[in-house]
Amino acid sequence: MASREPNCLFCKIVAGEVPAEIVREGERTIAFRDINPQAPTHVLIVPREHVATAAEAAHADVGLLDEIAREAEEVAKVDGVAETGYRLIFNTGTGAGQTVFHVHGHVLGGRGLEWPPG
Ligand code: IMP
Repeated sequence: MASREPNCLFCKIVAGEVPAEIVREGERTIAFRDINPQAPTHVLIVPREHVATAAEAAHADVGLLDEIAREAEEVAKVDGVAETGYRLIFNTGTGAGQTVFHVHGHVLGGRGLEWPPG
């Protein structure tokens, strides 16, 4: 059984206690559509295990971020944006806009994406 935090929204989505539009379910990750999409494709990929940030995941679980990157490619294929391109973002820390402290990769695509981001 994966470790979880009782008050974590994404742990509740992983457990099926909060509904979400699931795109893919892997052994260690799930991917679901963002509730407030910023692009035609906006999917969040989260580990089943509770880990707060990408930085923590990189130390605590070697290979997990690789797996999220691989899942991002699969999500992009599902939505037909793998060829045109997509962005995989980990907001890390409040100053960077992280609001949910259960690590998640945002997969954004389906429209032109500017650089630098806002
Ligand atoms: P962060 O700001 O990088 O932490 O991203 C958190 C994301 O979670 C935001 O893009 C929110 O729109 C999204 N979000 C918040 N609550 C839910 C939900 O219940 N379902 C799906 N996405 C959510």
